[in-house]
Amino acid sequence: MNSSPSSLYSKNILDVEKRLHSVIEEGLADGNGNAVAFFRADDIGVPSRMFSEMISLFLKYQVPLCLAVVPAWLTESRLHSLQHATGKSSLFCCHQHGWIHKNHEPSGKKQEFGESRSAKELRYDLLRGKTRLSSILGNEFYPVFTPPWNRCGQTTLDILENLEFQAISRSSGAAPQVSKNFKDIQVNVDLHTRKEKDPQSSVDQLLLELRNSISSGTSGIMLHHQRMNQHALSFLEQLLRSLSSFQGIQHLHFQDLLTQSRR
Ligand SMILES: [Zn+2]
Repeated sequence: MNSSPSSLYSKNILDVEKRLHSVIEEGLADGNGNAVAFFRADDIGVPSRMFSEMISLFLKYQVPLCLAVVPAWLTESRLHSLQHATGKSSLFCCHQHGWIHKNHEPSGKKQEFGESRSAKELRYDLLRGKTRLSSILGNEFYPVFTPPWNRCGQTTLDILENLEFQAISRSSGAAPQVSKNFKDIQVNVDLHTRKEKDPQSSVDQLLLELRNSISSGTSGIMLHHQRMNQHALSFLEQLLRSLSSFQGIQHLHFQDLLTQSRR
């Protein structure tokens, strides 16, 4: 797993507060004046200082966060350390992130749940992940699935529905599409796994993603704490502060989102 911070965070971003305020305002104006925002942090299961720092910001601003937990990484003792940071707050919604975060595709893009394995193998890993998280997390586990690398095959989508998952979460425009009975809660802003080499274009692109996501009505923001440094933390703090200052932005996590959509 790549743990180096994006070039975007090689130094503090200039005028960050002003720029964030403008893009949020413009996004709301382009849309209908309201938007839902959710944050999803991937690759959760191993306690670390950066995990705790990320969590403390969400507690400070009282913003919900979906935690994508890798089942094979989580143990009872790790859970205790993670809960030391989260304080078992209901702001955090734990859900399943693959089984062991391993690529099984012999070529092409990385996938743990692509089409190169049999339905039996895929189902076995999905079910043992769900069972493990349910047994360790109890009521704190919510049955949503985030596939590692944000992609999976049709067979996995079918199995997830069969195993009574409530939804999947991938990147915007993900294929194959889910059936009409199933939900795909897509992320459309990526704070840390950015490809741009030049910090300035990375900032511009990130802010554009944020603006477009808000104007679309749902901003799904993806985090990777392993790739964060102090500059990334201060950007995240400013983002939480800026989003929270707008009445038109409603912060939700997966369970809130799905409960709200069924009402
Ligand atoms: Zn991941």
